Formats: sequence, structure tokens, C-alpha cells
Amino acid sequence: ESTDFKSSQRFAQHMGKKSDASSDFARSKSLKQQRQYLPIYAVKEELLNIIRENNIVIVVGETGSGKTTQLAQYLHEDGYSKYGMIGCTQPRRVAAMSVAKRVSEEMNVTLGEEVGYAIRFEDVTSDKTILKYMTDGILLRESLRESDLDGYSCVIMDEAHERSLNTDVLFGLLREVAARRRDLKLIVTSATMDADKFSRFFGNVPMYTIPGRTFPVDVLFSKSVVEDYVEAAVKQALQIHVQARKGDILVFMPGQEDIEVTCETLTERVEELDDVAPLAVLPIYSQLPSDLQAKIFQKAPDGVRKCVVATNIAETSLTVDGIAFVVDPGYCKLKVFNSRIGMDALSVFPVSQANANQRSGRAGRTEAGVAYRLYTLNQYKNEMLISTIPEIQRTNLANVVLLLKSLGVQDLLKFHFMDPPPQDNILNSMYQLWNLGALDNTGALTTCGRTMVEFPLDPPLSKMMIVACDMGCCDEILTIVSMLSVPAIFYRPTGREEESDAKREKFSVPESDHMTLLNVYQQWKANGYSATWCNEHFIHAKAMRKVREVRSQLKEIAEQQKMPLKSAGNDWDAIRKCICAAYFHHAAMLKGIGEYVNLRNGMPCHLHPTSALFGMGFTPDYVVYHELVMTSREYMQSVTAVEGEWLAELGPMFYSVKESAKTRKEKRQATKVKLSQMEEELALADEQIKRRKLE
Ligand code: ADP
Ligand code: MG
Repeated sequence: ESTDFKSSQRFAQHMGKKSDASSDFARSKSLKQQRQYLPIYAVKEELLNIIRENNIVIVVGETGSGKTTQLAQYLHEDGYSKYGMIGCTQPRRVAAMSVAKRVSEEMNVTLGEEVGYAIRFEDVTSDKTILKYMTDGILLRESLRESDLDGYSCVIMDEAHERSLNTDVLFGLLREVAARRRDLKLIVTSATMDADKFSRFFGNVPMYTIPGRTFPVDVLFSKSVVEDYVEAAVKQALQIHVQARKGDILVFMPGQEDIEVTCETLTERVEELDDVAPLAVLPIYSQLPSDLQAKIFQKAPDGVRKCVVATNIAETSLTVDGIAFVVDPGYCKLKVFNSRIGMDALSVFPVSQANANQRSGRAGRTEAGVAYRLYTLNQYKNEMLISTIPEIQRTNLANVVLLLKSLGVQDLLKFHFMDPPPQDNILNSMYQLWNLGALDNTGALTTCGRTMVEFPLDPPLSKMMIVACDMGCCDEILTIVSMLSVPAIFYRPTGREEESDAKREKFSVPESDHMTLLNVYQQWKANGYSATWCNEHFIHAKAMRKVREVRSQLKEIAEQQKMPLKSAGNDWDAIRKCICAAYFHHAAMLKGIGEYVNLRNGMPCHLHPTSALFGMGFTPDYVVYHELVMTSREYMQSVTAVEGEWLAELGPMFYSVKESAKTRKEKRQATKVKLSQMEEELALADEQIKRRKLE
């Protein structure tokens, strides 16, 4: 239903038949053998002994040695699950889901019973659950309810080397929990990097290294600088496929769009060539439906080479067996907070040398391999950082600030971070929360802020929920927020672009992408939540079911918070105003055709061609947007037209209204928002917050 990749579908069908045919006995036997072949198996007893004797242990091992899938099982076999759940955190949702599935198979239990997983808006656990895989964000939120995490006998903080924002916050919190709870086992795992640092952070705790089993990898650099990494990667993969010996290929790409293009092009090129063996091209990225994600782990039929095209999820989180060739363009997508402009932006960056080496290493797990780097040795040496800057030092911390504040951490500058975030980041995030009304002038949590913490959403979206209940349009905003929490509603199959675009346009509400989303949901509902209807309109039925689920979860929270769930009826302005109240800090003003400038920093930004506002002949003077995506240029994503006066009313800290002259032309824009001295005010607010800190 949701893949455009012909060969992967064919491959999927083939695989389905194959695994149905094999007997359960053969499968479980081979699973057991697979488990015993993992490097961690050889040191199981030794490792368990160290854990018995120490409350906190750092476990280091090459990717694929069995840390994620085996450790939790070993702890269970050693009896810890009698005293509480064994939790294992993952920085990535895909990893949490796919590993839980794998472990449930290894233990021969139904996923969601003894072995389960929890990611935002998706809890696949039950009363029976003893092994729980979850994102680090989930455990962080659980610590809000139960600060000592009493439900757990062991917590494994997996993939610690990733240094995800939430893992870094958990480090600080769990260090304290471990000090209070002498019965808790805390295990921190890492793929070779940073282990000493982790050990020191927790008070020089023991470090255990799983002896690795790796094969040599030939690392080849590009001779000249590559202009188009997608094209270069496709060519390289094709060349490997045509010329090289047996062995699967792993291609890294920064994000979903590049992955889709790569898969499509690669499949086309293989089909164009005569006398070329089939190639199973399989994408993997976080938003890919989970049934398709599972495909990358299945063995290709004899004579079929597999080519997995992945984001950096395949760098350390997921291990695909049988990879002998790696193609690495050297880029990844990172969310980076620019404290000067006060906002996050998702952009493509060169990977670090550490990432590059991890990527290459993936070629040598089962046999000797080759890594093709699509960058020069000179670029590697001079343009790549030695290791990636931890997320906590480069992204917006608003959610972290909100969470820590509600956990009673008064002074964030004193919180025990492994690598403290730049003070500017903390202050900026506090400033953003203050703008949204979540913090008061003393930096303490307001009632609004306390309600915001209840929602598992980014602060502006929580704020939208809260404003909605004051404005009597909670019903609609619930839908909009849920739609925004599930990406990729529409799809656009190759060969049917025009048809799908035409269907999509029918949903357009000219002044708002948000309301277009609302429109889609309402029509789906009016059609009895039908999957057929979705297919007819090039909408992912699965994504829509997810939206409905998210909506009911958010609705439950709203009800717990005693928020009235009123509908706006025909008052569409109320809905737009509500969006404005949450996103006034992301406002832009019309400058040319389809061209806007950000009101706070003057940066140019554009309507995306898929926006409902694009090419409708209606270009509002002011818009707010959900987020900024930087690709070839800065695109605003999810845009809604707003009135200038609203910006001044709802975001007085940024904007003010200026009366202008009376000529007819100017009368049309009688009120005009001008950029107030935002930078100065920001500095002023920082000063104020700092001063209060000192007092
Ligand atoms: P580590 O955490 O040390 O990197 P893992 O426990 O993730 O290692 O991987 C151990 C083995 O389990 C690997 O050989 C990998 O291929 C296999 N594996 C992990 N997840 C899955 C899955 N979802 N499906 C099939 N095999 C998997
Ligand atoms: Mg792992």
C-alpha cells in the first residue's frame, strides 16, 4: 500500500512465502544458533558476574555483538525480572520496535506480552511485560510519574554513544536514581566510543568490553569531490552489483527523500540493464511503516543481492547481517538550534570521522568487506569533525527545560550534565517557554507550563491545545495536532504524480495547511474511516489510523486536564488564531510572489510547492509556519495565513502595530506589523533571567 519501490515489493512477496513455508522448529533452532554465535554469548557468565557485583556497569562492544538483543534476556535469565521490569532505552523509535520484535521471536513469545515496546503514542506492552524496549524519551516521561522508576529492576541505557538529547538528560537523572535505589541495576552500553567518559561520569564504575569479531574492511576514498551524492551513490551501488562478488550492499543517505530517490533510480537502472541479476532494493528510515522495516533483516533468496538504503539508523542501532559493501556519501541530517535566530532547523551536515568509521565497519561483520567513501581523503581529514557534537549542545532545549522544571530541578545551570549545554541554549529555550507563557518572570513553571508538560508534544503544540480550550475549538485543534504528529499523510506514486496531486489539491483550504489537514481528517471520518477512501485519495490509510489513535490519546489527556472539548463550528478564524497563538514565533511576511521573510530575523523563506497556499493566487501578507526545512532553500512547512493584528496581540514581545498613511493602497494594509527590536529584547530577557539567577 505504501511503497513505491517495485522491486522491494516483489521481494517482499517472495520473502513472505518463504518464511511461511519454513517450519517453526527450524526457525527456533536457527534462532538459538544465531544467538549462540554472537560475541556476547562467549562472555555471558563473566558479564553477569560483574553485574551481580556492581550496580552500575558500562558495557562496550562492537555493533552487532549482541548487546541490545541479548543483555536484557540474560538479565531476565539471571532472575532480575522477579523484582521488576528490565527496561532498555533506545534513542531511535525504529530500533525500539524492531529489536523488541526480534527479542520476542528469540524468546518465542507474542510481542506485547512478555516482551514489549513503547514509543510515543504507541504502547505495545501489557501487565505481563518483563522486557520493555522503549525510546529514551518514554523513560524520561515515566520518571515524571515515578521519579525512582520503581517498576524497574534493571535499566539498560543502550546506544549511549549516540548521545541523544534524552539519553543525556537520563544520564543525569539515573545517576541520582541509582544513588537512591541500591537495588537498581544500571547498565550503559556503547559501541566503542566514549566509554571512559561514561565510567567517570557515574563515579569510575567498571567497564566491560565484549571481545569483538570483525573482518578487515578496505576503505576507498573518492578521488575528486562529489557534486551529487545521490547520483554518485547510485552509480557506485550499480557498479558493485554488476562487478563485485557476492555480498549485500548498504548505502547511507541523510534522509527519507534522498532514500526514496536513490531506491527509485537504482531500481530503474537495474531494470534498464540487460543480463543483470536482480537486486532487492530496500529502504529503511524512521517513518517507514514497520512491516516494511522488517524486510531489511530477511535474507534475500539465492542469487538475489540485497541493497539496503538507510539513514544513519543503520550506523549502530540496527545491524543487518551479510553486508559486504558500504557506500557512504558522508552526510547525515541533524537538527541544530541556532541560538542567534532562536530556532531549530533540520539540515544536512557532513558526518564526523567517528560516524564515517562506524559506517565503514558495517562492511566487515561477517566477512572481509569494502567501504566506498564518496568524499576525498582531504575532505575526511579537514572538513569532518572528529566526533559529532552531542545533541544536547546543539538543539532546542525547551522540552528538556520544561521536564526538568517539573521534576523540581530549579536551577538548570547546576544540573549534572555530562556535557553541559551552552548557557545560551538554556537561556534561549527558557525565553521561548516564557514567550509561550510556560515560565513566569522568575523562571518558575506557570499553571500553563504545568499543563503543557502533561502532553507528549513539543511546547508550541501543547500550547495550541491549551489556547484551543480557551477559544472553544479543542475538537478541531486535537485533530490538527494529531495530524502534525504523524508525518507523510499523502503519497505520490511514480507515474501517477498528476493524478495524486489533483486529488490532493481538492482538500486544499487556501489559507491554511493546518486546516487542509483538518479537512482531510474530517472527510475521512465522514467516509466511515475507510481505507478504500484513503487509497482512492492517495492517502496512507495506516498513517490515518495512527492519527486517530494519537487523537484519542491526546483527547484522554485533555479530559484528564478537564479541558472542555468544544468545536469551533463555523468559526474558522478561531482555529487560525489558535495556531497563531502557538506559532507566532515562526512568523513570516510576504515579500515577493511565494517569497516570504521571517519576521524575527529577516531570513528569506519560501512556501513549499506542496503547501495549500502555493499557487492558489492567494498570498496572505502574514503567515505562521510549523517548521523550517532547509533543502535547496529554506522552506516553511505547514503554513497558515494569519492577520497582522493577531501577531501583535498574541506575540507582543516580538511585534507591534504601526498605523500607516491613509492612501487607498496603504489602507488595504492599514495595519502593518513591524519587526520590533527582537535581538535587543532577546538580549534584555537573557539579562533579566541571568540576573534573577544570580539573586
Ligand atoms: P548490538 O546491540 O551489539 O549492536 P544487536 O543485539 O543489535 O547487537 O544484534 C545482534 C544480532 O541480532 C545481529 O546479528 C542482528 O543482525 C540481529 N538482529 C537485531 N535485530 C534484528 C531484527 N529486528 N531482525 C533480525 N535480526 C536482528
Ligand atoms: Mg545495539
